[in-house]
Amino acid sequence: MTDNRTLARRPAGRQGTRAPHARDLLAWYDRHRRALPWRALPGEHADPYRVWLSEIMLQQTTVKAVGPYFAKFLALWPDVGVLAASPVEEVMKAWAGLGYYSRARNLHACAKAVVADHGGLFPASLEDLRALPGIGDYTAAAIASIAFGIAAPVVDGNVERVVTRLNLMETPLPAAKPAIRARVAELLDSARPGDFAQATMDLGATICTPKRPACALCPWTGACRAEAEGRQEEFPVKAARKARDTRYGAAFVVVSADGKLLVRTRPDKGLLGGMTEVPGSDWSAGFDPEGAEPPIEARFRRLAGTVTHVFTHFPLELTVSRADVRAGTRPPAGMRWIPLSEVAGEAFPTLMRKVIAHAMGDGDR
Ligand code: SF4
Repeated sequence: MTDNRTLARRPAGRQGTRAPHARDLLAWYDRHRRALPWRALPGEHADPYRVWLSEIMLQQTTVKAVGPYFAKFLALWPDVGVLAASPVEEVMKAWAGLGYYSRARNLHACAKAVVADHGGLFPASLEDLRALPGIGDYTAAAIASIAFGIAAPVVDGNVERVVTRLNLMETPLPAAKPAIRARVAELLDSARPGDFAQATMDLGATICTPKRPACALCPWTGACRAEAEGRQEEFPVKAARKARDTRYGAAFVVVSADGKLLVRTRPDKGLLGGMTEVPGSDWSAGFDPEGAEPPIEARFRRLAGTVTHVFTHFPLELTVSRADVRAGTRPPAGMRWIPLSEVAGEAFPTLMRKVIAHAMGDGDR
């Protein structure tokens, strides 16, 4: 596909001459669909397990980042029954690095529910899908339409961009969401709802991009109001976001002489729930690193520099202290030692991997 991006207005004579139609989009999709590992080939039936797994992984994550995880999960757990029978800790470990860890816990809970309540087969109704752990309106609609051919409007960020541009929708997100869904419901092709959903996603990902959309290559060029006015990049309109305060905290890396690292498991509920971490303080905007309580009595050295990480709702900055202790030191209550050789396979979130890397490098002050 050649890149021929332009924000030029269409010639006046063509403006608003026709309405967008699903058949134009589907004809484009039949020629230009993305080949994705979880996507059925033309003429094949989509596997609900693959659709579900990919949709959960793709929530908040890019197609590129998901690819290797999808392959790993399929190799480890080729169907929902095997996944349900696996310990949740193994699932968390395999998920580590993909972020938003509540998705991994819900993934496992959902697999168990599919086995316990639906005989190991994903239910073919929006309502029953929506009742499963970790499946919201979007994911239920995506599975229903792609795997079961149910005509449900599927609206992700890509689709929001396409539809608000097509219709010149000035209402900011998220208030515009119901109107966008209604517009997608009107537009979709009930004979090919799964292809329509994937086509709108592909259009948003490859042609109707946030910056400099390639309108000349778009199947809906000539039917798009934003293009007609040369205002593509103004949509979707977003409500102004409040700047979030940075939070601060301390992390303590304790290494024993026999090559072990002191860790604990975060509570199941909340941010990074159920993941492994090195001990540390709470995180807050007014945190004072001098007041942080080390987990164990030892000679801690505060390392130069800090570790920063940006969560969806706030940026975080951690100071890191390290202590080296003798072999056989008893771990404090609620903590445990893991061999340093097993750090790679442990369910550490990305933040903790940064902390450990920081402490294992130099930078002592
Ligand atoms: S829908 Fe098509 S014509 Fe409209 S802005 Fe997006 S790429 Fe351009």
